[in-house]
Amino acid sequence: MSNLASANKHFPHMLSPIRVGKQTLRNRVIMGSMHTRLEHADRPIEREAAFYSARARGGAALIITSGYSPNEDGRLEEGAHIFNSEDVLPNHRPIVEAVHRENSKILLQILHSGRYAKHDRIVGPSTIRSPINPRAPRQLSSEEVLQTIEDFVSCAELAAKAGYDGVELMGSEGYLINQFTAPRTNNRTDEWGGSFENRIKFPLAIVRGVRERLPADFIVMYRISATDLVEGGLTGEEIVKLAQEVERAGADILNTGVGWHEARVPTIAYQVPRAAWAFAASRLKKHISIPIVASNRINMPEVAENLISDGSADLVSMARPMLADPEFVNKAAAGRANEINTCIACNQACLDYIFSDRIATCLVNPEACYELDYKKEPVSTARKLAVVGSGPAGMAFAVSAASRGHTVTMYESDAAVGGQLNLARKIPHKTEFNEMLRHFRTRMELTGVEIRLNEIANAEQLKKQGYDHVVIATGIKPRKLNIEGADHPSVLSYIDVLQNRKPVGKRVAIIGMGGIGYDIAELLNHKESGLSPLEAFYEEWGVDPTIVIPGGVKEPVEHPPARTITMFQRTPSKPGSRLGISTGWILRSQLKRWNVGMISGATYKKIDDNGLHYSVDNITKVLAVDNIVVCAGQESNNDLVEALVRLDVPHTVIGGAKLAGELDALRAVKDGTQLGYSV
Ligand code: NAP
Ligand code: SF4
Repeated sequence: MSNLASANKHFPHMLSPIRVGKQTLRNRVIMGSMHTRLEHADRPIEREAAFYSARARGGAALIITSGYSPNEDGRLEEGAHIFNSEDVLPNHRPIVEAVHRENSKILLQILHSGRYAKHDRIVGPSTIRSPINPRAPRQLSSEEVLQTIEDFVSCAELAAKAGYDGVELMGSEGYLINQFTAPRTNNRTDEWGGSFENRIKFPLAIVRGVRERLPADFIVMYRISATDLVEGGLTGEEIVKLAQEVERAGADILNTGVGWHEARVPTIAYQVPRAAWAFAASRLKKHISIPIVASNRINMPEVAENLISDGSADLVSMARPMLADPEFVNKAAAGRANEINTCIACNQACLDYIFSDRIATCLVNPEACYELDYKKEPVSTARKLAVVGSGPAGMAFAVSAASRGHTVTMYESDAAVGGQLNLARKIPHKTEFNEMLRHFRTRMELTGVEIRLNEIANAEQLKKQGYDHVVIATGIKPRKLNIEGADHPSVLSYIDVLQNRKPVGKRVAIIGMGGIGYDIAELLNHKESGLSPLEAFYEEWGVDPTIVIPGGVKEPVEHPPARTITMFQRTPSKPGSRLGISTGWILRSQLKRWNVGMISGATYKKIDDNGLHYSVDNITKVLAVDNIVVCAGQESNNDLVEALVRLDVPHTVIGGAKLAGELDALRAVKDGTQLGYSV
């Protein structure tokens, strides 16, 4: 690293320039490719230009677009991005120009989805169906393989014509290129299958073709699957060989992907410790001379700085953290890392939205992908505003309104701000919620929000203070059970367990199978193993960081559960169906391993010294338990509203106080932010 002496004093490695091929990047932060589905929004090009340029303006040296298919077969779904004709050049140029105006570079990601496609033209190296797709692929003929290579190269040529600085060839996450390289998905008997050398011919031909046909200063990035995390994947030794061959074929830089989409190991959710996959990049770095990028669960500048300074990687790629905070790099560079709005790896508004055919956004930053819709103009006349409640809705309102110049006073009956966040962060693996709290606290301080702790606001006082407007963000109260014996000493609320730390016996019934019921089951079964969080994660999910075993996965180590737990719900639906799409399976498989009982379609009868009396299909049973933890959802806590109406105090109710049903931090933050920017 040549010019560290003059480099940024806060994060000198992360913020030093680096040479990639014949280009120089102004720092080592890449905004990784993300599928946003903005192509399905109104004004898609304007929105994408605003989305990417905000991240470039925020300091990311290199932006990688979402994946574009080089041909019809490779599209992820009908209507998904494709780039196979000059006709669409005008759609790309405004995006490229917007990023270039901010002094950043931009690569087009070329992604052929192969057997992951959600349409009828699905193809693959072989006819082997993916476990996460009901459609089976048609095997590409040898001629079609050659045509697909040509399509990749032509797509790169089109990218150059549109002004892109290069391309990222998507060779990870189990997409088509990956499907060629792994025996799991490639049982061809022609020159594209069989031996390892044959299986890697497909990516190498693409890299070589792009290198030969595009100018020398056009960046060729290859995203390698640095560990497949599926049986029948590559060994570590093979991945090294592939990386070396990719370099030899002409790639300028190697990005790393972790795990196929069908892997049964979490790779980016909050259960994954930060920088858990650094090993996958660092073991390759030793064997290649082009720069290598680390990715996945890097969400704060110190994590990135450590990875680069300890030699694990040359650059870092962050996708979701850039959704959460477009100004990530600028804040780090200015020594304001404590102002970063940190990605908490919840996946709730990014991946889960994509999987349910919605446009991605972010739980902690509802402006993400809606840059054109949020007008944050300073106010000409400051109003005197009060917000009652300091949970996510109240805090989001306070910082949004105060940042525009309003005078905001916050009332909180507790001794600390945070509301429900203070519960969430007590769940094992959910410590990232601490960052959300830190971010709000810092911003409230910077925007001058006056916080009155331990103060129960009443309507008369609010009226007397002469506020122009009062915002009710008093959140929710847990729903109580309405059956005989609901006040039995064995009955606890989830707040008793999480906040009041009431003792819980060995045999437990949990009433309610929503997110909180699952969280409580996890908390009650969680035992400290004595291992580091990273070792415990590898052990629990069967990750082989040496990648000696093909695919880098082995049998997880099972630990006996700390308690005998049975969960109940009244509806006959599948347990866990209320959980997030991309994180629910993780919780479900954890509880399955612990043999947590699941009873759906229950009717609760009564609770007494014998335990929980319930019936299923009209058969009454008694479950002997030490404790019953009620996680039966919530009701709005909006007691103040009636008095405010009576006293004619102008007010708005937001978040859980407005609507408790399935309240989550996502809706709370969005409610608060929208009101703060419009009041
Ligand atoms: P929830 O998801 O609405 O689940 C409430 C549970 O209580 C359901 O299982 C429901 O099942 C049961 N229930 C509702 N009314 C009841 C009644 N009167 N008597 C007995 N049982 C009743 O609520 P939550 O678990 O409290 O979670 C709140 C929100 O936090 C969720 O919307 C979620 O978005 C968020 N969250 C998510 C996660 C996650 O996904 N990992 C984790 C924590 C929180 P039946 O009606 O079938 O009995
Ligand atoms: Fe990160 Fe959650 Fe935002 Fe997705 S929704 S970017 S995981 S904070």
